[in-house]
Amino acid sequence: MTHLGPKLCSHQDAEIWRSMFERLRSSYHGHRSGGKVLVAVRVEARDPINEAGKFLPYRTRPNRANIYIFRQPGQAGCPVDELCTLCHELGHWRSWLEGNHSAEYNSAISTEPRSSLPPHAKHLILDEERRAWDYGRSFAAEAGFNDRWAYDLRARLGVGNHLARLQLADAPDPVELFP
Ligand SMILES: [Zn+2]
Repeated sequence: MTHLGPKLCSHQDAEIWRSMFERLRSSYHGHRSGGKVLVAVRVEARDPINEAGKFLPYRTRPNRANIYIFRQPGQAGCPVDELCTLCHELGHWRSWLEGNHSAEYNSAISTEPRSSLPPHAKHLILDEERRAWDYGRSFAAEAGFNDRWAYDLRARLGVGNHLARLQLADAPDPVELFP
């Protein structure tokens, strides 16, 4: 049987990606470590979608957090995109466990427009995004996903989106960050 896969995804092994995604999602959903809890890893319908996913600590209970993967209502979603997004958000989770989400960082990511932030705060955001994509590689490997090109392409796009919002004077080239 020919599997056409969802729209916008040219990968022919959609079922494989889907099973990787679900395995990874269920193995971290509810994870507890060092008093910190990843309460849920949720796939959530959202329209319009202006971000692929989010790692979000609770506002009132900072030792608890959720991961969201956003999908258009009624769409199957693109498995490769969603898997890479999940790995990246798990990268933010690992960085949060390590204590990198300082009060200064949290204040920076909730400031709009981000182009108004001082250079130091912009670099905190950029460093965290790079770290989350770097850490995400280990989750991709754990899931059995070894298409480095596909992963790094999404890392460049993800960091590129942040760079566009930050308007950093000394912005690095995303291609050089993830060659
Ligand atoms: Zn991110």
